Order: sequence, then structure tokens, then C-alpha cells
Amino acid sequence: MCGKLLIMKNKLYAEILIEYPAKKIDKCFTYAVPEEMFDKIKVGMKVLVPFASKKVNGFVMKLIDKYEGEFDLKEIDSIVFEELVLNEELMLLGKYIKDKTLCPLISAYQVMLPRSLKIKNQEHNYNKYDVYLSLNKSKEETYEFINNYKKNNKQIDVLKYLLENDSILKSVVGSYVAKALLDKELVREIKRIKYRINKYSDSNLIKHELNDEQKVAYEKIKNISSHKVVLLEGVTGSGKTEVYLNLIQNVINGGKSAILLVPEITLTMQIVNRFYDWFGSNVAIFHSGLSEGEKYDEYLKMFRGEVSVVVGTRSAIFAPLKNLGIIIIDECHSDTYKQDNTPRYNAKDIAVKRGEYHNIPVVLGSATPLLEERARALKGVYEYVTLKKRANNNLLPVVDIVDMMAEVKKHNFIFSDLLKDKINEALSKKEQVILLLNRRGFSTTVNCSYCGFTYKCPYCDITLTYHKSTNNLRCHYCGYSILKDSKCPNCHKEGLNFLGLGTEKVEEEIKKIFSDSRVVRMDQDTTSRKGESERIIKSFKNYEYDILLGTQMISKGLDFPKVSVVGIINADTALNVPDFRSNEKAFHLMYQASGRAGRGDTLGSVVLQTYNPDNKVLMYIKNNDFDGFYNYEMNLRRMLKYPPYYYLISLKVISKNYEYALISANKIVDYLKKNISKESIVLGPATASLFKFNNNYRFQIVIKYRFDDKINNALKYLDSIFINDTKAVLEIDINPMNV
Ligand code: ADP
Ligand code: ZN
Repeated sequence: MCGKLLIMKNKLYAEILIEYPAKKIDKCFTYAVPEEMFDKIKVGMKVLVPFASKKVNGFVMKLIDKYEGEFDLKEIDSIVFEELVLNEELMLLGKYIKDKTLCPLISAYQVMLPRSLKIKNQEHNYNKYDVYLSLNKSKEETYEFINNYKKNNKQIDVLKYLLENDSILKSVVGSYVAKALLDKELVREIKRIKYRINKYSDSNLIKHELNDEQKVAYEKIKNISSHKVVLLEGVTGSGKTEVYLNLIQNVINGGKSAILLVPEITLTMQIVNRFYDWFGSNVAIFHSGLSEGEKYDEYLKMFRGEVSVVVGTRSAIFAPLKNLGIIIIDECHSDTYKQDNTPRYNAKDIAVKRGEYHNIPVVLGSATPLLEERARALKGVYEYVTLKKRANNNLLPVVDIVDMMAEVKKHNFIFSDLLKDKINEALSKKEQVILLLNRRGFSTTVNCSYCGFTYKCPYCDITLTYHKSTNNLRCHYCGYSILKDSKCPNCHKEGLNFLGLGTEKVEEEIKKIFSDSRVVRMDQDTTSRKGESERIIKSFKNYEYDILLGTQMISKGLDFPKVSVVGIINADTALNVPDFRSNEKAFHLMYQASGRAGRGDTLGSVVLQTYNPDNKVLMYIKNNDFDGFYNYEMNLRRMLKYPPYYYLISLKVISKNYEYALISANKIVDYLKKNISKESIVLGPATASLFKFNNNYRFQIVIKYRFDDKINNALKYLDSIFINDTKAVLEIDINPMNV
């Protein structure tokens, strides 16, 4: 108290971190706090300050009562949003992110907030209101009016209602009646904040009794009373969601709150609806598919402590919940938890950091955790909890591998005989089919058989994909597109060929071969409109379609009891990717996709088509053998010095000027070789896997290391050099998901 009085008598200053996303000015500036703000201003608050002839947003990092500099200080202009204050935990978290990912501090704070809270001025208001009417005069006066009024009409009904009730929605009354009552000054308007999302799932809640295996898992995790990371490894269909729900209920019973992260919300709407069913309006959701207004509302629900549960994608890990009791990350192997641009954080690291702060468990759930996650669990660094059976005691599906080389001789280019038979069988039994092909579009290459011409992206130097529905060719990296010519644009002959298979072409083929079936395609092209993927999933679940065809979108977490057959059209597209995780990702994709089969009453069947039937990874999928795959792949990783045996850092030098990029990259390699531990390995520079992107050349350097206390300083130094480089950008990715 007296500290405050002292400040009042003296002056108050604030160190403000400016929201100006350039690394060059990633530091605090001191401002004077005007007297009328003394008792409002808090650390973690957003304010508007004058900066270089503009007004910019900033965060209050520190309040001080002495200023010894020699300049006259400018004053803080205003507080952007009095209610919103980043608490101590989130303030610390920002510093952790800066340190861990080498990003500007301000971008660490920005990533925590929805865009609506980054507004540049105070006039813009995202609040939405409902207008209510309530009595304006005393009850006696109102009675009197009613008694003196001869007729019994709608106005009187409303007044009678208001004598019994506090208020009524103006829209219910209707504008004509409302105006009459307002004119007579019998009622007045009240505005109340209205949340945009306030309807919850209408599906019927079945609370399953946990089975024995689930009960053991639940009890084990429930009894952890301090910070610990838990790996919950449960086969597809083992009912992990049920365990999550019970764990969160337990936390809520203890007066605490919970975060559940999911990889992609539209595809996990099933989970979200399950949460709405169970927890009702105690849930806020948070993901990029929401409108800015919706995000604003949901954020404030969390902030105001009106919800105890947050379900969301990556950035929901920053949910401003107080008193967290548990954090759960579903499908923890998903690479969507790593952000691809600055700040390059991994939500799992953030979860662990928050777990430490609150001293609570962090649960990683998956049927196929990443190798490093499983390795830590096996070593005892993480608690290891497993679910080995499907919840309904169904067996895992039977997987057949088909050699497409032999099929091609029979002129089966897309569907093998076996897959055709299986699909026909399923269709005749009124069961459903899922087909996976990890390429969208019609054909992945168009070339000329006379002159060899191939359509390529002029900015990215990769082949363009043909989309038949729009008759154009598109770059799947930068979005460039051109109309397809009828003749070769190079030699002007009619020799254009369509090579490489995409989902559009498979759809066409399905309509030919299985002409009685109802097929729906789900890929980026058919789901670009908001709500479209949810619609597709819902209608497939309601048996409005027989066949769901799609890209990896359809492999994640979906639960369709009527699906008995899953076909993987071309397993090789996933395996032949030049990345150290390609085996692992292919395994995840196909194993998860297989996991969609046979979840209901029938035994599932999976047909896996490939030109490399002897591939080891496919054998492990065939045998549903995650253990075997784990040992096989760990051995490769050890030999090739990849995670989890080595840590990785990727550096990319990006420039419009090829020479300059290469020279800079070589300088970096020289510097690193001299300045980090001799035990660490520096590879490159090599051309990055997407070498030319948007007319920029990209060279990559990879560091592999085990323990190296010099690396952090070396990276910070390089980062500081490139901040001032106008001709090249240096992108540093620590623990990248792929290289
Ligand atoms: P996972 O996420 O582990 O793949 P889900 O949570 O989607 O599995 O559950 C698979 C199916 O099993 C769901 O339809 C779910 O309703 C059902 N299920 C889960 N737990 C039980 C249980 N204890 N008893 C009966 N059915 C269950
Ligand atoms: Zn391009």
C-alpha cells in the first residue's frame, strides 16, 4: 500500500516492449506513465505508445519508479484493453520461447494472442451484444399502466412477463412492440455481451464405463501428483478419448482446468463434440478455422475463467487458464504441433514448460508416438502407459500387400483385382470404404511425348499438378497457376500426357468401375470452404456415401463404425520422400489409415498397393507391428546419427541471388566448424529440398549434435549477423520436424 503511495507522489515509468515485428528493435523502451493510469497499469498489459511518429502497440514488461536517463520521456498514450493482462506465467513463457527458438520476444507474445487482440486502435470492438428489454418504471407504476389500459395486447403481455422476469430478448418481442413500449418509457434497453459460439453438440451422450485396461491407465495417470510427462500409447480404437474425458473430469472435480490439444480441429470435430456432450458450456475451442470474432470470444471465455476446458490446435497451448490441472496432447506424433514459421516453437515443449510451472502431468497420447517419445518412455524419462486392445474388443484389421508391378501387366493401373473385390464385397454388404492417396489433383505431371516439355513452376522450379475440374496446372507450393493448353506450348503438337496419379483421377475411375456407389472426395481442393470438411465427415458418417476418397486428411482420428475396407492406392508416394522421417511418417500415415477399418462390428480389411512389396516398413504395417518398426527404425537412426540419438538444427540461407546465398552458406559452415564442439557434425551447404521457392534460392546446413554447450551462442551470433543482412535471410530451426 505505502509503496503505491510513494509512487503516486513520485513518478511512474514503464518499460515497454514494442510490437514492431522486426528483430532490429526487439528491445524495451521506457515511457512515462500518465498519472491517471497509475492505479490501472499492470505488467503484462497491452498499451499504445508513440513510436517514431506512429502509435504502436506494446507490452508493459516492467514498472519502475526511477528513471535516470537524460532524455525527456514520451508518455504512454492509452491502455489497449484493460481486462487483458498476460500473467506472470505467460510472460515467463515468452522469454523461454525467445531463448529456445531464437525469435524476437515480441513475436513470442504475439503468437499467444488472437489477432483481434492485436488491434491497432481502440475503436474496433469485437464484442457482440444481445439487446434485452427490462422494466423502466417501478412495479407499482407498471401495474397501474396495465390496469388503466383497456385492451389486452402484445404490449401488455410483455409487461406482464417483465413483472415476473428480469428481462426479455428484444428480438423476441419484435421491433414494433418494443418501439411502442420504449416510446412510452415503460421499458429500457440493456445490452449484454453475447458469445458467438454458444450452441453445443446435439448428439446423444453415451458415457462408457471404462474397461479394465482403460481403468488401469486412468488410475495410473490420475495418481500422478506432480509434473511428469506420460506417454499414453493406445492402439487405434482403444478408447483414448474416454480416458482423456475421465482425467479431465477428475481435474475439474478438484477445481482445476485442462487443455486438450488436437492436430487439426475440423478433422477432430468428433472429439470436440464428445467434449461438448460431456462438459457443455464449460468448454472453449480454439483453432484457425474460427472467425476473428469467434476467437476473440473464446479467448475471453478462457481469460475470464468462464471455462475449465480448452480444446484446440497448436496455439491453444497458450490458453490463459489459471490453475491448470492437466495438459493432454492427442495424436502427439503429428507434425502440426510444430510451427513452421517464426516463432518455430513446438507445442509439446510449451506443454512441458507449463506442466513444470503448474507442477502437473502432461499426457502425450497416440497409437504411434514418435520414436523419440517412445524412446524416452522406454528409458523411464516419461511415464509409460499402454492400451493394447480395442475398446470393443475388435481385432485389428488384416492387411494385404499387393504388388502393383504384377497388376500393371493385367492393365490394372489404379485398382488391383484384390482391392476391387474387397470394395465390391463391402458395397454389397452395405459397408463403407476409405481410399487413401496422398496426392491431390488429377495428374502430378503433364509432359509432351514429342519434345519432352514438362510444365514447371517458374518461381519454384517443380512440376505443376494438373487439376481437371478447373482445367489448370497449379504449383502446390506457391499457388501459381496457368490454364492448360490443348497443344504442347513448346512444339505445338498434340502430345501432352498426364502422368502420376492424383485424387481427382481416382475419383473419376471409381465412378467408372463402381458406378452404383456414392463417392465423396476429401482433399485440400474440396475442403477449402469453411465447414466443408466437417460436412463431408458428417455425411459419410451418416451413410450418405459409400466411399470416402482422400489425402492424409482422412487418416487422422476418425471413427466410422461402418468402414470395413481401407485401400491405400499407392504406398510408395509416402515412402519415397527424401527426409529422415519419411519411413516414420509413412508408417504413421498407413497405420493410422488402417486403423480406420473394422472399428464397428466387422473385422477390418486393408489393401496396401505398392511397387516395392518387399519394403520393410510395409511388412511392419502388415503385421500391425509397431514394436518391430520401432526397433528397425531406431537402428537406422543410430547408424545414420539422427534423432533420438542426435539432436538436429537446420539452417537455411535464402536469397534471390544464387551466388550470394551459396557464399553466405559456406561462410556459415566455416564459422560453425570453428566455433562449436568438434564432436558435433556440420553438414552442407546443400540445396534445400525445396531449392527454389517463390524465386528465392535456398541452401541448407544441418547440425547434428549430442551435447554441445557452444551451439547456442554460435547460433545467436549468426542470427545477429543476418538481422542486418538485406540480401539474405537466415532461418534457424531447432529440432525441426523434417530436414
Ligand atoms: P482411439 O482414439 O484410441 O483410436 P476412440 O477414443 O476413438 O479410440 O474410441 C474408439 C471407439 O470405442 C469409440 O467409438 C468409443 O465410443 C468406443 N469406446 C471407448 N471406450 C469404450 C468403452 N469403455 N466401452 C465401450 N466402447 C468404448
Ligand atoms: Zn511455385
